[in-house]
Amino acid sequence: MIIVMKPKTPQEEIEGMKRRILELGCEIHESQGVNYHIFGLVGNTSTVDSDRLRAVDWVEKVIHVQEPYKIANRLFHPKDSIVQIGNRKIGGENFAVIAGPCSVESEEQIISIAEDVKSAGAGFLRGGAFKPRSSPYSFQGLREDGLELLKSAREKTGLPIVSELMSTEHLNRFIEDVDIIQIGARNMQNFELLKEVGKIRKPVILKRGLSATIEELLLAAEYVLAHGNENVILCERGIRTFEKYTRNTLDLSSIPVIKKLSHLPVIVDPSHAGGLWWLVEPMAKAAMVVGADGVMVEVHNDPANAKCDGQQSIKPERFRTLMNSLKELAKIQNKVIQENI
Ligand code: PEP
Ligand code: MN
Repeated sequence: MIIVMKPKTPQEEIEGMKRRILELGCEIHESQGVNYHIFGLVGNTSTVDSDRLRAVDWVEKVIHVQEPYKIANRLFHPKDSIVQIGNRKIGGENFAVIAGPCSVESEEQIISIAEDVKSAGAGFLRGGAFKPRSSPYSFQGLREDGLELLKSAREKTGLPIVSELMSTEHLNRFIEDVDIIQIGARNMQNFELLKEVGKIRKPVILKRGLSATIEELLLAAEYVLAHGNENVILCERGIRTFEKYTRNTLDLSSIPVIKKLSHLPVIVDPSHAGGLWWLVEPMAKAAMVVGADGVMVEVHNDPANAKCDGQQSIKPERFRTLMNSLKELAKIQNKVIQENI
């Protein structure tokens, strides 16, 4: 349920309404629009008599939220949410570029890629340390050693690091080591993991599940939000369809749909979506045009010998070309690409 207060409602009326909602046993999420103060109610709202609330002088309207996700709902928070990572921002007018290898393989590999993507203008470094591989015989990642190497790359370049957390067992280590925790497609509905990352404040990139609907993605985000962590960034990474040519089908329409339904930032991963290196640039540009808040791209210095996802990784030179195209496009899309800060 949403209670919208009239413009210029006196502070004591706002406080009074807040007390009243708390007495009803609901939890409150407040947000301030351009003119309106908004109370979002979660919890058991079945006992709330909306007609009595409507009778309060300073109440503009009371809306029943139909969708099952509440805190993620744009009705709760009409303005775009902006997630702050140090002095960088994801959401709003900002377009984030996250780049790096599928997995961290060695010190030379991660440092050289980090330096290359940084000099081309990336704002964040990605790198898998714990890898969710379909086959148990495939490279599983360097695990803790991979996190150490990512930290060295951050120290060298200043780029905040993004890495995937697969188990609550490693949560404390991730809180210490990484700047953004990635929850991969395969874990989008690992509800226990979602609850745990909900209890911390570290920003989370939540990737859309392989066959998850937009509503399921928003409900997964709701798990994190409902446990207190508001720093959620959604990621469209392609979904399974009957099409075999591409690894997945990039659901570009999900971006404007999510933007309409939710205030959360949403980025696109064109690498896992297409699964082909030459599709990365056109799909990344398309992502910006449809309103995404950023892209996450796999970049490798030697894709032919990559331990994971070489076929969809672009080389640093191509990443530079992509960055230049995105910078040009950003001018007409009124987006800001933060770099070298
Ligand atoms: C990844 O980003 O390395 C990854 C495994 O992605 P996804 O969870 O989208 O498959
Ligand atoms: Mn990958």
